[in-house]
Amino acid sequence: MTPETAVFVEKTPLERYVAPAKPSLLGLSRAELADALADIGVPPAQRKMRVQQLWHWIYFRGFTEFDAMTSMGKDLRAALAERFTLARPEVVAEQVSVDGTRKWLLRLPGETQGERPHEVECVYIPDTERGTLCVSSQVGCTLTCSFCHTGTQRLVRNLTAGEIAGQVMVARDRLGDWPGGVRPTDGVVPSGDNRCVTNIVMMGMGEPLYNLDAVRDALLIVSDGEGIGISKRRITLSTSGVVPNIERAGAEIGCMLAISLHAVRDELRNELVPLNRKYPIAELLEACRNYPGVSNARRITFEYVMLKGVNDSIEEAKALVRLLKGIPAKINLIPFNPWPGSRYECSDWEQIEKFSQVVFDAGYASPVRTPRGRDIFAACGQLKSATEKLTARERMALRAMAMTD
Ligand code: SAH
Ligand code: SF4
Repeated sequence: MTPETAVFVEKTPLERYVAPAKPSLLGLSRAELADALADIGVPPAQRKMRVQQLWHWIYFRGFTEFDAMTSMGKDLRAALAERFTLARPEVVAEQVSVDGTRKWLLRLPGETQGERPHEVECVYIPDTERGTLCVSSQVGCTLTCSFCHTGTQRLVRNLTAGEIAGQVMVARDRLGDWPGGVRPTDGVVPSGDNRCVTNIVMMGMGEPLYNLDAVRDALLIVSDGEGIGISKRRITLSTSGVVPNIERAGAEIGCMLAISLHAVRDELRNELVPLNRKYPIAELLEACRNYPGVSNARRITFEYVMLKGVNDSIEEAKALVRLLKGIPAKINLIPFNPWPGSRYECSDWEQIEKFSQVVFDAGYASPVRTPRGRDIFAACGQLKSATEKLTARERMALRAMAMTD
């Protein structure tokens, strides 16, 4: 399957896009919901109860219309519907990979009136017992890691808390993952009564620690036990190393942390992850040692993308193990996912196995995950909005890849 085989859910041409007229309540904290209720004249004594009711309908049941919220009076439902919506990011296209991975292309309003809408992607990776949702935090990324497709995208805007939590809600909508929902029949979902979305990784487009407030607000909603209720131990935030915000992520969110390390020497990391020039490896690892809540039971994941002839020697594997000594760590070796025009190649499988053996012998169980969703460009680092026009070189490379796949 190639990206051209996307199933378009909705075919409104972009130029006819109309941004939502009413604000969505998605992403508001309980206190902000109480303010919204005050705006429509709900008396102070009732607000707490009404917030609880709304929270249950929105985040536990997944309702999209106020009118169906039967525990609230007709007048209140009408007043809510007049001023607000429960709109999620708009789904433009859904692609299902041969391995069951699903990718949704989502359309978001531009920041200013009249500005073109933006697009982000959200990817669902099912397994037998669990399902992981890869969520985006920004349109594009201000950073320019040399192996990452998202880094080549020019447009950047931060997503709001509602747009981030909304990705989880879109996934649950499309997967029939709310109470009483009906599962899709095309493709793989976890077995039996297991919920479809059990884990969240902030590993989609963007650098979550450059949008920390919104990411925090969204993750606190998603992990709230009276709503979607995904445990913070099943939520992982991945950062390329924004050192000053690492401590805050631990203290204010309390989720699991992943670090995109990718190199053991500053010289090489400067090239692969240019943010390293600002926050070099030693500072990054110091922030990891001090990450609130880190322990052997709550290890930090170090991601290491396998680039042929660049960072994949046995010496580097040994240096990696030495570097992480004393930090409760897991190592996640990621085979490089090529994208049109990328200048790297994935390490040979034999080399990945040798590298992995060194890491394993040092006591790190390091499963090398088979890349998922490659056929629909849903794998790590392949995400880039479709509205970002492809260059001629990219188009040619895309065609060549489609032919050799
Ligand atoms: N900005 C954050 C999170 C998004 S990127 C970060 O960099 O951590 C999610 C993961 O995908 C990161 O570990 C990133 O380094 C990795 N990645 C990016 N491009 C990739 C590619 N082409 N192949 C494999 N992994 C890639
Ligand atoms: Fe941005 Fe992460 Fe890609 Fe780097 S790897 S460009 S930080 S999304």
